[in-house]
Amino acid sequence: MARSFKKCMMLCCTGKISSKEDMAAGDSYDDAIAALSDLLKDKAELGSLAAAKIKQLTADLEAAGSTPFNPDDRIRTGFDHFKKEKFEKNPDLFGELAKGQSPKFMVFACSDSRVCPSHVLDFQPGEAFVVRNIANMVPPYEKTKYAGTGAAIEYAVLHLKVENIVVIGHSCCGGIKGLMSIPDDGTTASDFIEQWVQICNPARSKVKGGAGDSSFSDQCANCEKATVNVSLGNLLTYPFVREAVVSKKLALKGAHYDFVKGSFELWDLDFKVTPPVSLI
Ligand SMILES: [Zn+2]
Repeated sequence: MARSFKKCMMLCCTGKISSKEDMAAGDSYDDAIAALSDLLKDKAELGSLAAAKIKQLTADLEAAGSTPFNPDDRIRTGFDHFKKEKFEKNPDLFGELAKGQSPKFMVFACSDSRVCPSHVLDFQPGEAFVVRNIANMVPPYEKTKYAGTGAAIEYAVLHLKVENIVVIGHSCCGGIKGLMSIPDDGTTASDFIEQWVQICNPARSKVKGGAGDSSFSDQCANCEKATVNVSLGNLLTYPFVREAVVSKKLALKGAHYDFVKGSFELWDLDFKVTPPVSLI
């Protein structure tokens, strides 16, 4: 990968040569404008035609000048920034991480591009073992259906021996809206999404049961937190999680990040006993 990036840097350097060519083109531009000006002095009747053509030319140049998004360039630039600002400035940290990892946290977060836990909680490399999925859900212990999630939990708890598992819900979660939008008869239209989010059906039922005349948006907001609690309960269906919690080697925490208000709420597994703490 590093080799490819070096190649890129060379390509970028060749870009400087073209800027000289642009300067040469600039001289021709002055000549062209001067010629046009002379022509219009002699033939003023061409003025309106020239104006129309210049307007069209301006529109064409604007279209040509808008640089299309280049995903490869974005990735190269991002890695370059990380390497210079983080990797090369923290040789001790990355030297230790080259030998192994011992994160204190396992984190479940939504795949939503706005809620990356490393950004929101400033986790540094090596601090958090992260699983991200639609609506940050933890399915119950099920060897075949949810093997991917089970493998991550097993590795985090038994091998990395994380001390905390945090499930983080968030505001405006599309997955939760999807769960709350499933018709009561259970009919679904998607291949995977609705089946996945129904992991937290108990939260949906609880919220709908106590909804009263609250708006759909408020119901979704309540469900975002209720599903976190269902996930915390599901974590206890994993024998190794239960054992670690009972022996007080592992704590389970729920959280909710509101990216509209810019606030973060954190609570322990038994949220009825421990009131949530708001961090603003
Ligand atoms: Zn989400």
